[in-house]
Amino acid sequence: MRAMVLLQSGSPLIARELEPRALDPDEVAITVEACGVCRTDLHVLDGELPNPKLPLVLGHEIVGRVRTVGERVGSRFSIGARVGVPWLGWTCGVCSHCRAGRENLCDTATARFTGYSIDGGYAAETIADARYVFPMPAGDAAELAPLLCAGLIGYRALRAAGDPRRLGLYGFGAAAHIVAQVARFEGREVLAFTRPGDHEAQTFARRHGATWAGGSDERSPDELDAAIVFAPSGALVPLALASVRKGGVVVCGGIHMSDLPSFPYALLWGERSVRSVANLTRRDGDELLALAPRIPIVTHVARRPLSEANEALADLRHGRLQGAAVLVPDAA
Ligand SMILES: [Zn+2]
Ligand SMILES: [Zn+2]
Repeated sequence: MRAMVLLQSGSPLIARELEPRALDPDEVAITVEACGVCRTDLHVLDGELPNPKLPLVLGHEIVGRVRTVGERVGSRFSIGARVGVPWLGWTCGVCSHCRAGRENLCDTATARFTGYSIDGGYAAETIADARYVFPMPAGDAAELAPLLCAGLIGYRALRAAGDPRRLGLYGFGAAAHIVAQVARFEGREVLAFTRPGDHEAQTFARRHGATWAGGSDERSPDELDAAIVFAPSGALVPLALASVRKGGVVVCGGIHMSDLPSFPYALLWGERSVRSVANLTRRDGDELLALAPRIPIVTHVARRPLSEANEALADLRHGRLQGAAVLVPDAA
């Protein structure tokens, strides 16, 4: 089975033939049709997230077809069914977080994450625990893939933002272009803050529902009820706070961010809050995947063959993408 494998943090992925392993009773084997490239993959590659499984197959926005099922999977998935595999690969079910409906916070020492502590989807095939796999709506596999992390984290961040009438999005990449569509569907106004001078990204944002787009160094033309920071730059947090009204919230959507600079307490005062979202729950997935065809969410994807995974990661790293990069199997 063909895969792009990370052997060591900081080094490029290497093409390898891997021997498929035997299925556990709760697992499904999946033929990968598409796998999105997420910024978290870069954080894993660069060693910014501790102790990845090595060697590792990255990728946690997997869309594919069920090839075989383990003996306990039962009738939940039939052979050939279209499924999606997200970042959340397995949780303990018994810790205080899991029991409180926050399986996304299950201890990282026990929880398993796709493409980090277990192998993911930069491969022709993958294996996942069926209890964490989503049935997927119909559609193009590559266009569905970004829903599984960019979409899910964006959706969780939007829910964490409360009920904003006017929402600011800092960093307008894969997650923001999806969450903007959800927010507009819910009747919210969306303002986009991109790298200063990035007119291409600002045009892209306006095309995906932003009523205003400008540089992240600009003060919002109208006070925001909430802001979500998707770009991995801590410096954006005080900038966002400066544009959020009293009582508003700034939600940080990334798994890794540069340090937050110190800032005057006045920016936080007035019952403003700063919070993060971490991972996802299966409920987030069920909700977003039910909502997606109703909006309908249209994702903007740049396809690359699996063998060009390193190039796709470089495009993301250097901001050369609009929307999401997605790997598809190489033509035979
Ligand atoms: Zn747990
Ligand atoms: Zn991700």
